[in-house]
Amino acid sequence: MTELEDFAARLKTLTDGRASAPRIKEGVMTLALDVAGLSEQQRDAVAAAIREGALTVPGVQDVRIAMTAERRPLKIIAVASGKGGVGKSTLSANLAVALRRLGVRVGLVDADIYGPSQARLMASEGSKPQAKDKQLIPVQSPFGIPMLSMAHLVEPGKALAWRGPMAGNALSQLIEADWGDAELLVVDMPPGTGDVQLSMVQKHKPAGAVIVSTPQDLALIDATRAVSLFEQTHVPMIGLVENMAGYACPHCGEVSDPFGTGGAEAAAGEMGMAFLGRIPLAIDIRRRSDAGDPPAAGDDAHGAAFRAIAEKVAAWLKGGI
Ligand code: ADP
Repeated sequence: MTELEDFAARLKTLTDGRASAPRIKEGVMTLALDVAGLSEQQRDAVAAAIREGALTVPGVQDVRIAMTAERRPLKIIAVASGKGGVGKSTLSANLAVALRRLGVRVGLVDADIYGPSQARLMASEGSKPQAKDKQLIPVQSPFGIPMLSMAHLVEPGKALAWRGPMAGNALSQLIEADWGDAELLVVDMPPGTGDVQLSMVQKHKPAGAVIVSTPQDLALIDATRAVSLFEQTHVPMIGLVENMAGYACPHCGEVSDPFGTGGAEAAAGEMGMAFLGRIPLAIDIRRRSDAGDPPAAGDDAHGAAFRAIAEKVAAWLKGGI
């Protein structure tokens, strides 16, 4: 690796992928830096760090950084299921964490207005979002992911009495918050396929949808319903995730399949959509989720399973839009 290549690699980490490839001409290094969403202080700090690093590359006497504030449109991925309890929220949280670890600047919206669980899953219970000019400012989770959930805004159970339009408005406020430099929002959709889901999809036009199902036939039938909601509204399908696929024995790690195996993958094939992977039913996943310690933040087998799904989603995003 040349010194310049080495610097270019460091630059990527240093700027979180915001800098263009550096060029050197007559002792002057030039590069473009996308500063959208950064505060003045953050800009200055990044620029100073780039300068310092650049001047250590042999032959570089001066550095010119062109700052651009191109605001890239925020893409939305909707994570949906036909019914509750299949692990949609668990998958959303872990997908967000795994995508973040892959370098995607991701935010998380808990659109499950009637049963919000992301604040617990992402260890941000008790945080209160601020508002600026009527726009919400997301709270920060410990995983480098800004997020908003109804649970941050109202007392538990209070949203239960809300009817369609009110729930829809609340959801829009979460999605239209000030997401700073995030490039992608993972939206944990409310379970089912009613009016709230339909109007969210029509209004916010997700770039793609991930469907979560368990292996049982019944859940798969429900999943088919979720798929048709997105088809009707012309939202591209990213693929299907099978959750609670096989039971991972906490003692020996052996996976057994009380509901059979391969059903979701076959169903994905029949529906003409990609199969993104399977997550086993494991006590450790439930325990860690309840404790606000998403398995995707670690590197064990469960972490790897979520990461593999996130890699497919990230690849889809790169080629799919
Ligand atoms: P949904 O959002 O679809 O209602 P949740 O993500 O809230 O579902 O999951 C329902 C329950 O199942 C939670 O207690 C969660 O911890 C648990 N759970 C989800 N996925 C798994 C899994 N793969 N292994 C074990 N428990 C899981």
